[in-house]
Amino acid sequence: GLADRLQETFKKLRGHGKLTEDDVNEAMREVRMALLEADVNFKVVKDFVKRVKERAIGQDVMEALTPAQLVIKIVNEELTELMGGSQSRINMSPNPPTIIMMVGLQGAGKTTSAGKLGLSLKKQGKRPVLVAADIYRPAAVTQLQVIGKQLDIPVFSMEPGTDAVTIAKSSLNYAFTHANDVVIIDTAGRLHINEELMQELKDIKGQVKPHEILLVVDAMTGQDAVNVAESFNKDLGLDGLVLTKLDGDSRGGAALSVKAVTGCPVKFVGMGEKLEALEPFYPDRMASRILGMGDVLSLIEKAQATFDEAQAKEMEKKFRKDDFTLDDFLAQMQQIKKLGSLENIMSLIPGMGDIKKKLGDREIDLNGKEMRQVEAIIRSMTPKERANTSIINGSRRKRIAAGSGTRVQDVNRLLKQFEEMRKMMKKVKKMQGGRKGFGGFK
Ligand code: GDP
Ligand code: MG
Repeated sequence: GLADRLQETFKKLRGHGKLTEDDVNEAMREVRMALLEADVNFKVVKDFVKRVKERAIGQDVMEALTPAQLVIKIVNEELTELMGGSQSRINMSPNPPTIIMMVGLQGAGKTTSAGKLGLSLKKQGKRPVLVAADIYRPAAVTQLQVIGKQLDIPVFSMEPGTDAVTIAKSSLNYAFTHANDVVIIDTAGRLHINEELMQELKDIKGQVKPHEILLVVDAMTGQDAVNVAESFNKDLGLDGLVLTKLDGDSRGGAALSVKAVTGCPVKFVGMGEKLEALEPFYPDRMASRILGMGDVLSLIEKAQATFDEAQAKEMEKKFRKDDFTLDDFLAQMQQIKKLGSLENIMSLIPGMGDIKKKLGDREIDLNGKEMRQVEAIIRSMTPKERANTSIINGSRRKRIAAGSGTRVQDVNRLLKQFEEMRKMMKKVKKMQGGRKGFGGFK
């Protein structure tokens, strides 16, 4: 992947004393290749490399940074810039309802994303309504209704045979009378862009005057997604993009080039099929992720949305002070269950890739037998033991094993895992501290 490639490159750079033009050229050759392999648009790559080179070669190496750090910093900043600089939000109308039109090809994820967006707005205290304006497949209306029911969000639809423009227009009246402050219109797609589709979308646009037209594209289609965005933007005019299936896109090429090519910012990314799996797009975090520096901010935010806020704060404090105990470990594991797969979470933590490799295939099944065993073992310990594992000697281990109905080696393994986790946390803490010292890194 791109992250690994770049990390390799920068490993080579590390340890060099001075940033020479040769160094920069060598690094940029790797960066160029990595980006092309990630399916980033050719012209975008060319411009990008040129910009980084110009900045890197001309720059004084500051005392606080090694030459490699300086190059990484510049690449990071330019990647962020390439993807739009800062987060782009939805245009909310000062006079409700805000009208959002979801457009895109068939299967891109419009209907799913309409639901996801509705949920996220609802969580922010809005009262959205979903509008079923995909009239060509009977199942499309049902699909939206199922989603609406799941999320407890109303779905506006009309009897079969009604045209999409009428549905979209009528939905505004519905929103007024039902005090819905956001209208999300799910439109029909086609397998390919064609005149008929564009005309229908233009007609809807003309009639309802949306505040926001969001193009939904499938990140896994790479450059095709960028081409689709270019032509939708030309014909219809777009306010932003939703990049779906980023959970399945290891290369990230579309995320990297679409803003540069079309001028339209990515506003949201879809990270899975579940209706919670929509995230705002943050260019700086994406850049860090691409560079393999992990994404602590996303992780913390994700955790906060799920964790009880007070508990999250408490954890953070313990994390800082390094007095994370087995009780916390247990609480953490319960919380992690809510966050999704452990793998997902690990991939967001810097330096975790290496640790994951070291741990090998020893997957922790969060809902299975192992988890229950862990819980039983910890519950069989005294509060003192939980707070300070170093006092758990051989005879205590025997007692705990007997009490929890496990074997001594299970207790040993848990204590070892816990130690590994503590070490890992120290490492993360150090990296965060180190990063602050970088100056330019955010
Ligand atoms: P539409 O034809 O544009 O309305 O697309 P749908 O919303 O029906 O989605 C097509 C398929 O893609 C469905 O199976 C969705 O569950 C799936 N899908 C949508 N968004 C995502 C995503 O972010 N990640 C993953 N893995 N699947 C997604
Ligand atoms: Mg659909």
